[in-house]
Amino acid sequence: MLLSIVVPCFNEEDVLARFHDHVSLELAKLDGAYEIVYVDDGSRDGTLPLLQELAARDPRHVRYVSFSRNFGKEAAMLAGLRDAAGDAVVIMDADLQHPPELVHRMVALHAEGYDQVVARRTREGDRVTRTLTARLYYRAINRLVDVELVDGVGDFRLLSRRTVDAVLGLGEYNRFSKGLFSWVGFRTTTFSYENAVREQGRSKWTFGKLLNYGLDGLLSFNNKPLRAAVHLGFLLVLLAVGYAAWIVGDALVNGVDTPGYVTLLVAVTALAGVQMVMVGLIGEYVGRIYYEVKRRPHYLVQETHEGPETGVMRADTRRAGESLWETVAPK
Ligand code: UDP
Ligand code: MG
Repeated sequence: MLLSIVVPCFNEEDVLARFHDHVSLELAKLDGAYEIVYVDDGSRDGTLPLLQELAARDPRHVRYVSFSRNFGKEAAMLAGLRDAAGDAVVIMDADLQHPPELVHRMVALHAEGYDQVVARRTREGDRVTRTLTARLYYRAINRLVDVELVDGVGDFRLLSRRTVDAVLGLGEYNRFSKGLFSWVGFRTTTFSYENAVREQGRSKWTFGKLLNYGLDGLLSFNNKPLRAAVHLGFLLVLLAVGYAAWIVGDALVNGVDTPGYVTLLVAVTALAGVQMVMVGLIGEYVGRIYYEVKRRPHYLVQETHEGPETGVMRADTRRAGESLWETVAPK
């Protein structure tokens, strides 16, 4: 059995060498063969030279793919999954927040027949505000999307070959992996581990990025938010009709009252706000369609362990066959 480890790296020069040693040590303890696929997501520090060195030192175990610029972790994971040849693939972060010791346990559970072995981190050491927002977010999102998303569950997981192929078969441009993994399903098991604080470097998540990520999760699965908007619209119409009836009734019984200046102002601004939100919501979906229709590759490869990349088109078609380039190019 071949085990692949996929590691997205963005500016990880501080920890990468330590990560590599640590992981290699753990993997050597396992029975089967292994490969580590590093994906350099357009790092601007010494990450790429380090990967080149690692690959040169240990060509049997180390592969890498380097992007032409930063395309984001989702794209990096996709590239890694495409490149990985293993019968099982483990995705982990380069910053040692995903303890390499756990790979052992994942492989054991996979041997028991599980297709997805998911490591769920506790929120120990997180700031209270982040824990709280996460909890609220997951409660809200699980009402809206039709796949189950679990708090603390991230990308640290083992996937069987058929699961990887299933995930690669989902060719959408806007990728929200947490949801995609959950969407493909198969036999899944979860275990918890104590959250480790990032050892070096710093997290690339800012509040704004997290907010947008949250919105992505909400919007990339179905059109329930649109449905909610429609419901809200109905509710507002009902309220307006009720209010109108009340005003008319009041005028008939008590005569015409003083004009409701404040009511008018509040109603107009509130409605304008609601309308803006809804237009924005529709815009989000249209924007997504726009990106899907363009069918741009998710990333461009600049070099790999095999040397510089020459054909740009090959970059995105290596495994999954959803790109436009392949449909136009005669086979
Ligand atoms: N990462 C990446 N591209 C990015 C941002 C992050 O490949 O644009 C990688 C990063 O190198 C790390 C993993 O994704 O291996 C998780 O990133 P980070 O530790 O910043 O996120 P957090 O652990 O705070 O969720
Ligand atoms: Mg991290």
